[in-house]
Amino acid sequence: MKVASVEALPVSYKEPTDHNRYRSVCLVKITDTDGRVGWGESCSYFPEATFATAKIVEGLGQIIIGQNALHTEAIWYKLKEHSWWYGTGSGIASIAISGIDIALWDLKGKQLSVSVLDLLGGPVRDTLPAIASLHGTHASIDKMAEDIASHTATGLHGAKVGFGKAGNAYLGFEEARDLEFVEKVKAAMGPGKDLMVDLGVKNFWDVPTAVRRARAFEERGVAWLEEPLGNDDPEGYLALRAASGIRIAYGEREWNAIGVQRIIKTGTVDVIGLDPGRVEGITGFRKAAEICALNRRQANAHNFSTAIVGAASQALSFASPACYILELQPVYGEAQKDLVDRPVWHTEGFVNLPNGPGLGIEINEDLVQSARMDG
Ligand SMILES: [Mg+2]
Repeated sequence: MKVASVEALPVSYKEPTDHNRYRSVCLVKITDTDGRVGWGESCSYFPEATFATAKIVEGLGQIIIGQNALHTEAIWYKLKEHSWWYGTGSGIASIAISGIDIALWDLKGKQLSVSVLDLLGGPVRDTLPAIASLHGTHASIDKMAEDIASHTATGLHGAKVGFGKAGNAYLGFEEARDLEFVEKVKAAMGPGKDLMVDLGVKNFWDVPTAVRRARAFEERGVAWLEEPLGNDDPEGYLALRAASGIRIAYGEREWNAIGVQRIIKTGTVDVIGLDPGRVEGITGFRKAAEICALNRRQANAHNFSTAIVGAASQALSFASPACYILELQPVYGEAQKDLVDRPVWHTEGFVNLPNGPGLGIEINEDLVQSARMDG
């Protein structure tokens, strides 16, 4: 039952939902003394961050070898304590701890023949609606509306669309174009489908711009507006909150539960993004989601990576009372579809329940080896 080895595996893959750009993440493989294996993922996204994460995972791995793999919480605290100087509540240490923690939960479930969802206390709801998470792509708004509606026609309950991304969509820059986009996508999806707008780093809105768009989006029934003023502008968000009734989402760039508590205290966030591959793993997500629930805020898994973070997000979203939906990439690439035997998916718009043990997935190790960035 003890941890025998911790391996850091930096990999890169083509992401079809992001214009086939290469993304990289650090996978974590933890093996116990009986040969059982747990897998985790650190969402580092950029090559330099992925290599740095791998080194930190290897270093932290040394202090957990020989530990009881069932002791996920105790190990989590050990990792936090060990990284006190270079990971004081933020940074790549949080990303590294995330991958290790997810792998330990998977391993614990496999050792006990129990699903991570059961280890978390079981599902708090019978059904979990899924929405599509995608980016604007085409120059033609009609074409984008048609594409998005084709995804929601499968039963998905709506779509969250990233503005300011690569490609020719040119969203988030001109008010008239943005409003035409919202109107046409809403019309194409039809009634009962939600549209969420997620600003990207290429968009820069000052407070007056955000207020004008938020009011116009609210009138057109946009379900939430994500990161309209970035991740850290409490005064700006207060002004936006006072001027518009639209639901405001941010938080996916926080590193831990303390950061989530801090942004909730500003009174300016309704939907808090939480990435299990960044926010200190399943243990860290759980703590942050609990704060969201206690403060009557919605938590929303930032599920935009490989099938491992997908499986962790699935279990966490079913187990957390603050989570009401789960985002899925409507077009799966290798990292979601081929990396595991049972990718997270939906049935007529509702996320499938995970099946144990652990995260309920077996990893295609040949694919992992072929995607290695370190030869
Ligand atoms: Mg986002």
